[in-house]
Amino acid sequence: MQPQFFNVINDELRGSADVHRVTDPRTEEDLWACPVATTQDFEDAVAAAQAAFVTWGQTTVPERQALLVRMAGVIGQHADELATILMKETGKSRVLADIDVQASIGQCMYYAHNALEDEVQHEDDKGRVVATHIPLGVVGAIAPWNFPLILSNIKVVSSLVTGNCVIVKPSPFTPYAVMKWAELTRGILPPGVFQVVNGGADLGAAMTAHPGIAKISFTGTIATGKRVMAACAKTLKKVTLELAGNDACIVCPDVNLDMAVPSIASGGFFNAGQVCVASKRVYVHESIYDEFLARLVKVVEAQYAVHEDGNVPSTFGPVDNKVQFDVVKGIVEDCKSKGYNIVLGGKTEGVAANGKGFWLQPTIVSRPPEESVLVQEEQFGPILPILAWSDEDDVVRRSNLANAGLGASVYSADLAQAERIARRLEAGSVWINQPERPNCAAYFSGVKDSGFGGEMGKQGLLSYAYTKCLHFPKAG
Ligand code: NAD
Repeated sequence: MQPQFFNVINDELRGSADVHRVTDPRTEEDLWACPVATTQDFEDAVAAAQAAFVTWGQTTVPERQALLVRMAGVIGQHADELATILMKETGKSRVLADIDVQASIGQCMYYAHNALEDEVQHEDDKGRVVATHIPLGVVGAIAPWNFPLILSNIKVVSSLVTGNCVIVKPSPFTPYAVMKWAELTRGILPPGVFQVVNGGADLGAAMTAHPGIAKISFTGTIATGKRVMAACAKTLKKVTLELAGNDACIVCPDVNLDMAVPSIASGGFFNAGQVCVASKRVYVHESIYDEFLARLVKVVEAQYAVHEDGNVPSTFGPVDNKVQFDVVKGIVEDCKSKGYNIVLGGKTEGVAANGKGFWLQPTIVSRPPEESVLVQEEQFGPILPILAWSDEDDVVRRSNLANAGLGASVYSADLAQAERIARRLEAGSVWINQPERPNCAAYFSGVKDSGFGGEMGKQGLLSYAYTKCLHFPKAG
């Protein structure tokens, strides 16, 4: 039987006269009908959330954490169903879809055991000041398509543990798993506390404009992030923006290539490069450049092949949607037309044997100019530039872009050198001798245009709460 999908409003399942269907990125077949929320659906969701907040906002942290454990349990019970849906809508392999599901469980469990606590900010013989944290109200969570569950779930669990209600709007490219997750977890939370409405840019814009929503947590492109922030200014909403990155990966001359090459291949080609903190520019020391490049080509060729069958264990897949496929294809064509040295891949048509799907070959470009589109813009797909450096100040300067600073990585056998470089990089997270993988216990944010505020870890919860100071007198 075909699965069915619904907007989840006040714990009720709602269909719609207006439906859309996502295109399966592996086969280009139309997927299931998905109801698009109407203006009335959205208004009802905001009203239900506001009504629920009156009592939900008064619950204690332990009460809310107990419910997060139950949420994790339901995701776990339905892990296969959710992963199967994710595979269809994102084109991910089973391995990658499982990661989206299991990491979401991990996020629930992290906040089930970690939350904001009161803090004594000052104490003397006259008095004591205690900072406490109170919820904001209704949070609007707007998500992208590359990790639909993880990137929605982090906003949901952060909202819930801090006592907020939350309305999620998934990407119209990947609405299904998020809608199914909300449907499956009905009954755990009071009605109106966690809701999902499906729609596109119009619905997202309506969320950013609605006076009944206190905060927007947005993950997506820099261009949309700017629109979100401008719209939120009108009602002074709190805003968190998790935006694009163009991560530099710096490879030092003393590096252990047996360790570094597979790790950097994973940094660049995991999920076909559709990771906000993927390695997007690799800077290799001139003295090891040729050997590094030869080894990287071999590893990528062997480990990031095109497998049309998503059940083959692989962390590579097609591009998620036609819009992004055309963006990445345009970058490959730009490299070709300018005569850059493509040392692996480069094919953009008929990549899968059956000629279907939004597949691009894993592509490596040697020494493109620093000012090329491939180096300066986020590719968000399976094409990686490999550049050379010989002076530390110079590579740090080239790594630090004016318009982005989400993540970065440094590879060196000398941890002191790696740390010195890592501290000079203008990025929200820097990984040493490992590919870029966020950890839900670690604060995650972008500097410059890569974001505004951040999420994850205890610090990430601060943006979901007001901090209120209680000033106590001391006797006498
Ligand atoms: P996008 O900006 O096109 O869309 C993101 C979401 O915003 C979608 O749900 C979309 O419907 C909605 N939207 C569109 N216009 C809107 C508007 N005017 N107001 C409100 N909402 C609107 O981004 P995308 O293509 O879905 O995602 C890919 C991008 O996300 C990449 O640049 C990637 O680097 C970035 N990303 C960042 C992080 C991070 O944590 N920093 C994580 C994942 C992805």
